[in-house]
Amino acid sequence: MFLARQRLLATLLGALTFLALLVCAEPSFGNFPAAESLPKKIYDTIARSFGSSGSSNNQQVLDGGAAHEEFSTMDWSQYEDDMVLTFNFTSPREKKAFMRAAEVLVLDVWKVSKASADVRISRSRYRDFLRILPKSLRKSTSHSVMIEDLQHAVISTFPMGNKEMQITKESDIHTTAEMFFKDYRDLDTIYDWLDLLAATYPSYISLEVIGQTAEGRDLKAIHIHSRNSVDEKKTVVVTSGLHAREWISVSSALYAVFQLVTNNDKNQEGSLLDQLDFLFVPVMNPDGYTYSWEHDRLWRKNRQDTGFSLCRGIDLDHSFNFHWQASTGTPCSESYAGSRAHEALEVHHFSRYINKTKTEGHKYYGYLDWHSYSQSILYPYAYSCDAEPRDEENLLELAYGLAKTIRWTSGKHFEVIPACQDRDGFYSPDVEGSGGSALDFMYNIHAIWAFQIKLRDTGNYGFLMPKKYILPVAKEMYNSFKYFSDFILNPE
Ligand SMILES: [Zn+2]
Repeated sequence: MFLARQRLLATLLGALTFLALLVCAEPSFGNFPAAESLPKKIYDTIARSFGSSGSSNNQQVLDGGAAHEEFSTMDWSQYEDDMVLTFNFTSPREKKAFMRAAEVLVLDVWKVSKASADVRISRSRYRDFLRILPKSLRKSTSHSVMIEDLQHAVISTFPMGNKEMQITKESDIHTTAEMFFKDYRDLDTIYDWLDLLAATYPSYISLEVIGQTAEGRDLKAIHIHSRNSVDEKKTVVVTSGLHAREWISVSSALYAVFQLVTNNDKNQEGSLLDQLDFLFVPVMNPDGYTYSWEHDRLWRKNRQDTGFSLCRGIDLDHSFNFHWQASTGTPCSESYAGSRAHEALEVHHFSRYINKTKTEGHKYYGYLDWHSYSQSILYPYAYSCDAEPRDEENLLELAYGLAKTIRWTSGKHFEVIPACQDRDGFYSPDVEGSGGSALDFMYNIHAIWAFQIKLRDTGNYGFLMPKKYILPVAKEMYNSFKYFSDFILNPE
């Protein structure tokens, strides 16, 4: 119920923005007041529509959902009326009009490219949405159904097996791993498993708590030390799960950690571990990730207070202190950047940790930030297409090398594009800036080679990849990660 209210609030805010635009002499989508400064009248209107009861834990057991009830506190009814549609654009004008319309109705745009966009919408609002789109996009030929029944898609891909995984420090990592990668894992299970891994390989893994989240959870980094103590500690950093719902990125990073450590006596991994240090933060957003397990599978941001009690959460990938820009949209936006750079606690802790380890001699040669979905390799910069990355030729060569490695592994095609194109497409630049990304921050300040990679798929399952894809995706990402690390060791 609370989530339905959040959506209602978001719609109201969108509608109020829309009304404000109608009465403004110079329409602009960038002038909606920040939450704290919402005029009292508007705030009261919104708050009234929410009533005074606050959140509800009302459980609705649905067809097919009964078996999941004992495994989750999720209110499955929040997806009841929803579907995901793909719109195809024939011109930049159509795409712009689509993005503005989605913004007015505060719709969740899952993915957007030059030619198409995937958007979540309820059946009851479908007509309203069409009404504010250009005529050409109203035609049935302009859009198709990607997920017809979102509720079914969420329920049918939701894990049920976590309670079966009992991990202690006495467990055997190899037999446990076999089970571990058969499904997605909740935060507690992941942390137990990492404890076991660190206990099994204490000589070169250290597990470090690098800070606490707003809800008091640990943010953990896995540091894999090079076996040869050399003066210059070339370090590769991998982050995943910045966006809570992108579970496939988390499982892939955990698999990479496991392979790197357990295969280290074989040729390639052995030589990598001889010469490089690795730092993984596989769950960069522990509060959001937990929320996506317990309350809303499709949650994206962290769970931090925004000063606006009805909409929580800062988008980690807009919070970094490099060309950070304040959102002119409300905190209800999926890409809300916070009120200052590094306000997201996870980002604050991560950057402090990177700085600390730099002073301890680490040199950050490589950075990979894994997300989903769209199968693309994004290279710097994200904040602007006018900013040229240094050494672009080699950066591109490496990006195409990663794509080729994935293609050889699984036949999957990953496109290579500048990150700014992806950002521009995703957010209306009038409302959300493109700055503040982890990619730009790491590339500019620390890492020589840096990419954001959006994993599978291109739009069949979206964020709801069934568990049978966990290993195939993890394997192609691990191979590309090895290629990346090899390149860093031998760039010529
Ligand atoms: Zn993401």
